Amino acid sequence: MDFDFPGDDDPRRLVVRAWRKANPNPTQSDLHAAGYVAPHWPAPWGIEADPIHQIIISQELDGLKIAPDAKRKKMGTNAIGIGWAAPTILLGGNQEQKDRYLDKIFTHEEIWCQLFSETEAGSDLANLATRAERDGDEYVINGSKIWSSGAHVSDMGILIARTDPDAPKHKGISYFAVPMDTPGLSMSPIIDMTTAHSFNQVFFDDMRLPVSARIGEEGDGWRLAKVTLANERVSLSSAGSLWGSGPSAEMLLDLVRENGGESDPIMRDKIARMHANAEVLRLNRLRTLSAKLNGRTPGTEASIQKLMADEHGQEVMELAKELTGSHGMLTGSGPRGAIPPSMRTGGTEINFGRGKESQYPAVDPVWHYGFLFAPALTLGGGTWAVQRNIVAEQVLGLPREPNLEKGMSWAENQAARKHIA
Ligand SMILES: Cc1cc2nc3c(=O)[nH]c(=O)nc-3n(C[C@H](O)[C@H](O)[C@H](O)COP(=O)(O)OP(=O)(O)OC[C@H]3O[C@@H](n4cnc5c(N)ncnc54)[C@H](O)[C@@H]3O)c2cc1C
Repeated sequence: MDFDFPGDDDPRRLVVRAWRKANPNPTQSDLHAAGYVAPHWPAPWGIEADPIHQIIISQELDGLKIAPDAKRKKMGTNAIGIGWAAPTILLGGNQEQKDRYLDKIFTHEEIWCQLFSETEAGSDLANLATRAERDGDEYVINGSKIWSSGAHVSDMGILIARTDPDAPKHKGISYFAVPMDTPGLSMSPIIDMTTAHSFNQVFFDDMRLPVSARIGEEGDGWRLAKVTLANERVSLSSAGSLWGSGPSAEMLLDLVRENGGESDPIMRDKIARMHANAEVLRLNRLRTLSAKLNGRTPGTEASIQKLMADEHGQEVMELAKELTGSHGMLTGSGPRGAIPPSMRTGGTEINFGRGKESQYPAVDPVWHYGFLFAPALTLGGGTWAVQRNIVAEQVLGLPREPNLEKGMSWAENQAARKHIA
């Protein structure tokens, strides 16, 4: 690693500070107008900020409160809109689609969800069966998606569906932008074990989309679905245990100290191990950044980061409960002490009443929520086993998984699977 962060007098810092001074109470639209929602993007949406410039902006805007925006109809961070939909539209969309969708994503005027996974297509996403059949100037969509986070509060969805069942499974998929109020689209809630309604199952019954809703060429959906990693924003502040949000290992360590330390040698050993893992992850984040600054694609570093960070998140949340002894079994229990509001995440306020409503009023509800949410960390965005396959094949160069479907169309593959079953 060889880099220093630019000092206090760096001109790029002074620009952001001046903007912050002139905009003490900015809205999401103000932030977007300044190019600070996605600073690494090209103009007119971003300011083509290189990795160091992005870090400067995020350091200078740290703790900034965004005021309610008249254009922002619904709550949400629009993570899927900004992280997935927007880069795909930039890459594969035509000018009309860019004009129609991009600004509204960055201002949060339209919140997006992701309609990818199906009951038989999770890790094996390219096996998806939702059909999009061309009928003149329209596509007729039939099928169902599952685990659609935030679909019930979204205005738009990115959908991948099969346009050609007779092509190999990765080739016959197309990518669509779907208004969530389209006739023929319905959904039912899935309540997860944190008691939050974050997931949905979404159904399409003869839902009609104009051809203009297709992003990119027909059959190019798989390539587009894989877009984003190259576009990923540089971040140094992702020590949060729950996919970069929520309390970090260091925060737990601070609470242990505040509560008088820990004398049990086994627990002390577990705390030391957690701290060491957090430090390895912090250094790996810096290695990733260093690689980017030196014009290298951070392959190895990036591959192991998700794998280690997801398991570390579970380690932090489990230890937080374990430290409270048998209380750990009860709702709302966790380490006592205040944590900064920016480290809260999830439906904690809604699901586990704070203060007088909780039998553990001195405990932040994020610990109990985080413990219940943590198993999802090694599933979403690629399961722990799939991540290990990636490291084995692409980093360590071990033999690839045998491909028994080679040369088959998706339809032939389906028939073969039925035959085996
Ligand atoms: C919090 C969260 C939010 C999500 N949000 C969304 C969303 O908004 N939109 C959306 O479309 N989806 C979403 N998902 C779904 C997510 O993408 C899938 O859960 C994920 O792709 C895994 O698929 P699956 O659940 O079908 O598990 P499966 O793929 O069925 O895996 C089952 C088990 O088999 C193992 N396995 C599978 N393949 C292999 C292999 N090749 N080698 C070894 N082991 C293997 C897995 O590791 C796992 O243990 C979300 C999931 C979570 C947890």
